[in-house]
Amino acid sequence: MKRIGLMGGTFDPIHVGHLVAADAARHALDLETVFFIPSNIPPHKREAPEATPEQRFEMVLLATLDHPQFEASRVEVDRPGPSFTIDTLREFRQMFPEAELWFITGADALLEILTWKDARELLTLASFVGATRPGYPLEKLSQVKEGLGRLADSRIKVLEVPALAISSRDLRKRVREGRPIRYMVRRLVERYIYKMGLYGGRPEGLES
Ligand code: ATP
Ligand code: MG
Repeated sequence: MKRIGLMGGTFDPIHVGHLVAADAARHALDLETVFFIPSNIPPHKREAPEATPEQRFEMVLLATLDHPQFEASRVEVDRPGPSFTIDTLREFRQMFPEAELWFITGADALLEILTWKDARELLTLASFVGATRPGYPLEKLSQVKEGLGRLADSRIKVLEVPALAISSRDLRKRVREGRPIRYMVRRLVERYIYKMGLYGGRPEGLES
């Protein structure tokens, strides 16, 4: 059966941690395509994103363009209001009624999602794969799984990926402070950030 990967996130900005996790999942689960889905308004974040949905989408597009199995999806940026994962999964279910859907997250997001009130319903729509992430232990996972019942066993997988202690929050801070982000984001994303003046970066911040 065809398997599709879905990687949701704020992507403010998209970095190599996202890409490494997505590609590891693609390989491990034999996913035909991985859709990167930047949120419009993330309902669960404390602070609003700094870049606009359109800018975050464009960075995702630039970062994924040269991977034949990666796609940038407009599903959430085109849907007004807060971006709920349940709505996105329903949309992909309709677009790919025959496919197995795998929602790819980091360890932090996996635990968060599974403790949402509609977690059980989420599990009926897709399987979840959580990529290990430095600083976010998965010890609590077995407990959370137990609370979710039988379906959780087959529908939740953990994937070991090379540890990249990179976060969008830290990248925004680096840009603001004039510190390098080279090799932490794709080159075109780096150029985009400085050209658009995102995160308080100055155009001259882009060294050749
Ligand atoms: P922020 O610091 O703003 O929260 P972030 O780096 O966590 O940004 P998000 O857009 O919040 O990025 O994350 C999207 C998805 O990517 C989440 O499932 C998150 O757990 C996962 N992810 C982000 N960074 C990594 C990483 N370094 N390794 C593995 N997974 C990651
Ligand atoms: Mg995050």
